[in-house]
Formats: sequence, structure tokens, C-alpha cells
Amino acid sequence: MSEPKSLVLVTVDCLRADHTGFMGYTQPTTPFLDQLAAESMVFPKAIAAGAPTYYSFPGILAARFPLALGREVVGIAPGEPTLATVLQQAGYRTAAYVAANPYLSNRFGYAQGFEVFRDFLSEELPYAGEAIPRVRTRLNQRIAELAHKVSVLGRLYDDLYFEYCQKMTASKSESWDSLRRFPAADFLVDQACDWLGSLGRQPFFLWLHFMDPHAPYYPPAEALKAMGSERILPERGRYLNAAWNRADLGVERLRKYRDEIVRLHDSGIRWVDTQLARLVEVLRNLSLWDSSVLVLTADHGEEFLDHGGRFHAPSQPYQEMLHVPLLMRVPGVKKVALSDAPFSHVHLAPTALEAIGIEPPQEFEGHSYWAEAQRGGDWELAVSESIGGCTNPMDAGKRMGARVLVAQDRRHKLVLDFDREQEELFDLESDPREVRALRPEEEKLARARLLRWALQHLHRPTRGFNRELALRARVREVGLEWKNSEMYSKTLAS
Ligand SMILES: [Zn+2]
Repeated sequence: MSEPKSLVLVTVDCLRADHTGFMGYTQPTTPFLDQLAAESMVFPKAIAAGAPTYYSFPGILAARFPLALGREVVGIAPGEPTLATVLQQAGYRTAAYVAANPYLSNRFGYAQGFEVFRDFLSEELPYAGEAIPRVRTRLNQRIAELAHKVSVLGRLYDDLYFEYCQKMTASKSESWDSLRRFPAADFLVDQACDWLGSLGRQPFFLWLHFMDPHAPYYPPAEALKAMGSERILPERGRYLNAAWNRADLGVERLRKYRDEIVRLHDSGIRWVDTQLARLVEVLRNLSLWDSSVLVLTADHGEEFLDHGGRFHAPSQPYQEMLHVPLLMRVPGVKKVALSDAPFSHVHLAPTALEAIGIEPPQEFEGHSYWAEAQRGGDWELAVSESIGGCTNPMDAGKRMGARVLVAQDRRHKLVLDFDREQEELFDLESDPREVRALRPEEEKLARARLLRWALQHLHRPTRGFNRELALRARVREVGLEWKNSEMYSKTLAS
């Protein structure tokens, strides 16, 4: 093997494949990445191992399925091998800059293997959030109760109350920057560039996780302008985000906000693209670019009412959620057209390791397709899994729900939802948007094949150290609960 190369891993939260230019989007979200894609391996159908963030990242960083350690374990277990730990042991300098996603924090094991790990969670950041008054006065409550007895009136009341709250909290001096909830891409790239500048000639691993396209959608004004959406002003942006978040609106009424919401989201993607151009420029200036592999992907997509939902609920495992962009730029490697069969994220870490000249550890569930990728690839299916009802893994009870299991090959996709006791088979060739599930008598062979794969996945032999990892993760959690408990502070005080 030749001299090991450095690795830059870029993950973008909520970036679905079909919102990038190099995957066919018609809006100018990714001009820089489109250029980069022309000299990169582009995987036409990369599939997240689970969604959202907490069910996806074990696949990306630890090359394993999210429920492999049992559903009670969230994140990376203490001592579990990841891209970062493997590279640190190989003598790499390592750093991560993560835009304040609480599920990617040290609490869930993500700092392991990083010499520098910044998640910006405990720091003061400009954040206004949706400042909607929560407490309704007693009179208000009484009116609401009465109004809801008649459904038309209830709806009218909700609308009036929403408008009232928007008026009450509106401010003329609002700016996109003051509304934003997560550090923007330029802030992260600044930090990463400082770190890169401080390195010597040792190979490095840099992980950047961007939240710019994540809700609430508050892109920088400059990105809106680049997307031709500068007519949306911050006050309107705040109104749109609050409206999009309303639990009392059905799909039909939400639809009128959809296009503007997508414009805000797309502008977030554009901002990431702009900043990546800057990062690559710095790598070039530091003479690091020719010895660096860059991998760009997303943890999951985002739904804009495609299947009636918003954001990225684990119970909605359709392609807008699971199909993510994946490009790998490897200096000196000729671009070949890659197979359009699904490529699971669990194979990404071992494949990237081999691409930089480092042997992947045997503990990984996924395996390297580096040799195959250089010839166009011969992977054939991907499995994804999550707990459908787990919208908040901080709540241990929510993690214990039933599984949603998805198996897909080039043409068909089977969704098994054990909670709803529902099975859906789609023909992605004739129905790429998954609008109509096939009837039980249709495509029986494909159904049987995917069911067999789903079963094989559930009954696959567990890795010998899974039990120990699961136990360590439980101990970590009990330790945290103990640290937060009253008894702990009393013990300290005594
Ligand atoms: Zn995410």
C-alpha cells in the first residue's frame, strides 16, 4: 500500500439526494459540489442505515446497523471501533466540528477517537428559536375549549391564536442570524481551517457535520440571495417556520407554505456548498488537497409532505428520507460510473479506509467495496432500520418500541412496520415516489426475496463483542443518570 492519505468526512444533516445538482436537482443548491462530483466517485443510490440522526450515524462512523447492540443503546458504545478511533490508532491527527446536534455529542460516544471534538452544545450561540408565548390565559383557554366543541370554530380559533402569537412576538429588527438555532457552516469551516493550519505533515482525519438545511430553516441572507430567494425576509421566515411546525394543520393546509419552506431549506444547502468551496481552497493552499480523500454524504433526507409528513420522523422510511447523496473524491483515481444498486452506509467507513490505505477493522459489520468501486461496483441491496415511534431517544421508554425494517434492491423496496403491522412493497422503477404499494398478489418473487433478506438481517450472527459493548453503553447511561441525580450531589456534599 502507498503512503496513507488524509480523510475529510463531510456530513450534512437533512440533505436528500434529489436536492443536490449532481443528483439531478434543478435548483442551484450545489454548484461547487457539482464541479467536485465531475472528478469524484458518485454513488447513485447511497442508503442510510437508519433515520434520523441517531439511527443513521452508527452506520456512518461505526459501520454497523443502528440496532445491532439492542434498541436500548443509542449512539456509539464506549470502546466501539469507529473511523476516528481506527485512524487515531494509526497515528492520524483527528478533529471533529459538529454543529450542535445533541445526538452527536460526547454523551452518545461521538467524541471517541477525536483529539479535538467541538459540538458547540454548551456554548452561547445566537439563538432566538420560536418565541411563541406558551401560556394561554385562563380566559383564552376557556374560549379555546368552547371553540373546539364546534370543529369549524376550533380551527378558526387556532388560526387566530397563531396569528396573534406571531404578531406579539414579531420584531422589526429581526435578522436571519439572530433567528438561527445552529452554528452556520462558515463558523465550522473557520474553526476547521484554523486546525488544519496548525497541523504538520502527519495525516489527519477531519469530520464536519453541518446543520444548515435542518429545521428551523434560517439560512444566511447571502445564501438566499445566491438562490434567488432574497424576497423572503426574516419576519416571513419566522412566520413560515412557526406555521410549518403547527401540529394542528393537516397536509392540505400546510401545502401552501411548502414551496417557501423548501426555498429556505435549499438556501441552507447552498450555504454549505459555498463554505465547502472555501474549505477545499484552504486545503489546496496548505498543499494538503492532493493527499486527501473527501467523502460527502448526509445522515438522512427531509420530508416536505411527500408522504404526508414534515422533517424526518423515523416512521417515514421512504426514499426522501433514506436515499442520500454520497460522493468520494480520491486523488489520482479515475472516475468510473458506479452501479445504481443501493449502497448501504454501513459499507462506507471500511470502503473509505481502504481508499486512504488503512485496513478496516474486523469488528465492522459493513465491509470494504473499494476494489469493486474502482470497477463500477457490485453491491446489490441495502437494509435500513429504526424504531418507528422513537422521536426522542433521550426518553429511554421511547427507544423500546417496534422496529421499522426496510430492504431494497435495485428495483424493489419492502417496508416492514412492526408497530403498525404493515407491509408495503414498492416498484421503484415504475413508481420512484412510492405512491402506490403493490398488491399482495403482485411481484411475489420480489416480495419473497426481500423478505428473505429482511429475515437474514434479523437473524444474522451477532458479533462476539456486541454484548459487552451494549453493557458498556448501559453503564455509561446509568452513570449519567446517577450524576444528574440528587443522591449524587448529596454524596458529594457529605
Ligand atoms: Zn440528522
